[in-house]
Amino acid sequence: MIINCLNCNIEMKEAGINVGANPFVLQKGINGVKKIFSEGSRLRAFVCTKCGRVEFIAEKPEIFKDDVSVK
Ligand SMILES: [Zn+2]
Repeated sequence: MIINCLNCNIEMKEAGINVGANPFVLQKGINGVKKIFSEGSRLRAFVCTKCGRVEFIAEKPEIFKDDVSVK
């Protein structure tokens, strides 16, 4: 996957996300409601080595398509 920085138009580098022992997961649900067992998607992070901009990419974006409310 190649992502270019929107500021600098150079290729961003993939980096690890350090959150201790836990995976960094984007979950369904809004307003900070905790949904431990809701479906989630791991994130990949890309950083611009010039300006420091970071982009997160969800590995499974399709799971957010039609359920944005907390049920
Ligand atoms: Zn940049």
